[in-house]
Amino acid sequence: MIELPLVKEICMNCRWWLAQSRDDNYQTDGCPKLNVGSCKRYPPKQTHTGKCYSPVTYHDNFCGEFKEREPVETKPLPKPKRIPFEEIQILVRDWISTHAHGNLHAITCVACAAACGVSTRSVIKTTAWKAFIERRDAEYRSTW
Ligand code: SF4
Repeated sequence: MIELPLVKEICMNCRWWLAQSRDDNYQTDGCPKLNVGSCKRYPPKQTHTGKCYSPVTYHDNFCGEFKEREPVETKPLPKPKRIPFEEIQILVRDWISTHAHGNLHAITCVACAAACGVSTRSVIKTTAWKAFIERRDAEYRSTW
């Protein structure tokens, strides 16, 4: 585990720094061996192979171009709309009556849930879905 320095004006806190996450930078327990990253403040440099890379710095490097990161504003996700179960019953029934023709084994609970905008758990609790499964299984058994 790396020790974090007490100084604040270092690359890891700089808005120009982008941490790298190559596998060989990590120990077997997942802790970083070296915390390295690319500095996007300075132009890329060409190596002897002809490829260009941004300058790589360690997390505790610094320079006079340090600029603090702006805080990232996060908004809470909107709560999903709660649909009453009676409405789910109707949505699922309508969806099944539209789609349950031909190959009944192609009808999936996931597709129904996605089309109705509800969870699969809600779909399988509906009367229409239970009836559809019974019908599908009965048709399947009749082909034996
Ligand atoms: S080298 Fe300077 S500009 Fe680049 S990330 Fe570090 S502090 Fe920021």
